[in-house]
Amino acid sequence: MRRLVFAFAVWLLAVGAALAAPGSSLRCGKLLDVRTGQMLSDQVVTFDDSGLITSVAPASGASAGAIDLSHATCLPGLVDVHTHITSEPTNNGYARLGVSVPRQAVTGVKNARLTLHAGFTTIRDVGASDFADVAVRDGVNAGEIEGPRMQVSGPALGITGGHCDDNLLPYEYHYRSEGVADGPWAARAKVREVIKYGADLIKICASGGVLSKGDLPGTPQYTLEEMQAIAEEAHKLGRKVAAHAHGTQSIKDAIRAGIDSIEHSSLIDDEGIALAKQRGTYLVFDIYNDDFILQEGAKAGMLPESIEKERKLGRLQRENFRKAFQAGAKIAYGTDSGVYPHGDNAKQFGKMVEWGMKPLDAIRAATINAADLLGWSDKVGSLEKGHYADLIAVDGDPLSDVKTLERVKFVMRGGTVARNDSVK
Ligand SMILES: [Zn+2]
Repeated sequence: MRRLVFAFAVWLLAVGAALAAPGSSLRCGKLLDVRTGQMLSDQVVTFDDSGLITSVAPASGASAGAIDLSHATCLPGLVDVHTHITSEPTNNGYARLGVSVPRQAVTGVKNARLTLHAGFTTIRDVGASDFADVAVRDGVNAGEIEGPRMQVSGPALGITGGHCDDNLLPYEYHYRSEGVADGPWAARAKVREVIKYGADLIKICASGGVLSKGDLPGTPQYTLEEMQAIAEEAHKLGRKVAAHAHGTQSIKDAIRAGIDSIEHSSLIDDEGIALAKQRGTYLVFDIYNDDFILQEGAKAGMLPESIEKERKLGRLQRENFRKAFQAGAKIAYGTDSGVYPHGDNAKQFGKMVEWGMKPLDAIRAATINAADLLGWSDKVGSLEKGHYADLIAVDGDPLSDVKTLERVKFVMRGGTVARNDSVK
């Protein structure tokens, strides 16, 4: 028995040393340079005690890395710019009303870990009740819980009765979501308020949505004037703005107002695509979750009207994704996780390739493009000196089969190993 305890203690020490390993290196059989698109062979990535990459270079005989990934393909940690880690796909429609905000924060703790372990070392969380997302981000940053780097929006801003309001209860409950703000000055004040309580960016609802009650995805909600006020106020305070916009007019109004990214982008037309290109606005198309909503939505408590709306929208969104990409618009990888189960974030890569992207372009959407949208190009999105040692590894070649990214075997965040499933 005592010998067993001793063996266990030795094992613990060894594991502890391997996990802590401050300032170390790893050896990659292949490594994808996302900027050039080149797949490099036999590379060593070194990083320092603060978790920053100090070099990426060909392995020389003696430079065998401390962590051996010589049979695997290494890529930069992935980025999802549209998540809701405090939401679950099981809490839809009226079921959602029974979930407290503290409970949502606990859900966020679980999902932060799941998301990181799926290879997403950075996320942008766009819309959470009562700043539950701020609490999760701060817990991750303090090292108390495991999770990706996070930019969070807090409550999403929207009009009374719109997609970002909560329209489930009748009048006598006098309930509205905390992000509701009507009119340019009220919207400016709301921007200031969410920043006061910890928002890294501003999320707004420009048009109607799928999972909300009593509105239509194609109809405008915020006016051009309101969005101009929001964009100006947010930019003045050093924050970017993400606009939920399915509708053709809302997409164009949002781009003209100076919004930084259009979320969903479902009914974008040629003029909208041209405007996005001209203004450098990022388009985010969440084209995986349509399948989940149609197949699982009813079981997951989604309202019948939501499933009907999705049925009308899903295919058009995918066709417009292809159009926008082929026209050369900037695309960032965002999935709307929380609508579908967290940890499945990589399932959108396959859809993007099915609808016309090359695997390399889909990977760029989730690395250099997403990092650019977040304003973090100097930190994440590629493996180079001075960036965080955020790195994942898979078996096989994601440039020939992008679905290998659904089976990430190794995840490192800032030089700390989060997952290592003994890559072959
Ligand atoms: Zn969303």
